[in-house]
Amino acid sequence: MTEHIDFAGYKIEIRRRPYQNRLGLAVYPNGVIRISANKTLSQKHIIKFLEEKRSWIEASLKEVEEFRKNYPPKRFVEGEVYPFLGRDYTLKFSPELGAPLQFDGHLLRVRVPMENLEHHHRQRHFETLKKSYKQTAKKLMLQRVDIYSQKMDLAPTGIQFRCQRSIWGSCSAKNKISLNWKLIIAPLEIIDYVIVHEIAHIKHKNHSRRFWDLVEKYVDNLEAHKAWLKTHHYKGDFLSPQSELWPDIPTSL
Ligand SMILES: [Zn+2]
Repeated sequence: MTEHIDFAGYKIEIRRRPYQNRLGLAVYPNGVIRISANKTLSQKHIIKFLEEKRSWIEASLKEVEEFRKNYPPKRFVEGEVYPFLGRDYTLKFSPELGAPLQFDGHLLRVRVPMENLEHHHRQRHFETLKKSYKQTAKKLMLQRVDIYSQKMDLAPTGIQFRCQRSIWGSCSAKNKISLNWKLIIAPLEIIDYVIVHEIAHIKHKNHSRRFWDLVEKYVDNLEAHKAWLKTHHYKGDFLSPQSELWPDIPTSL
């Protein structure tokens, strides 16, 4: 059973580890506050540490609350808003649609037969939607990698798509690039920035001045793009197999 303590009205989870020397503290997107501590450390010590960190905890919880308010769990109902390539689309069920889904003006039309609206059907259609997002993302990102690897004259040895929590992209020692396909919700210039960033790592395996100089040759408004990624961190959370913001709701439905 997990050890808990109450602190200033918050329920704090304590994880004991035999080799944990320093105290660890984390506030998770779902509002869970967790302390990692050594097996032998007294609760008195832990409370003293929490007192020191109280304002940080409160600020983090406020941030979490803001994220959860901005990104409520998806229910796959008409009228719900879905982001795609930096624009918001309103979900509309269109039984007669030729394709499984289609972006049409400000609408995201999804082919859902009207007799198929009970919970388990909606879940299946929601999974189809996520799959379409993934396929579109892969196709588009491969094209953008091609464009920029030609422009920059740097070619990755391979490309991999992932759905990570907090990593947008990476470049391995062997110059294999990995991209987070959830980025498909972002404007194209943000996707391009992440791609240029990872391609630039083929040449510079660090974040040195020379690395950023290379990135800035191909990307305008660099700081604005970095800020966008930070503030919109959870915008694509609904695409994850398990939502981080709403983990208690299976597949966000
Ligand atoms: Zn980097």
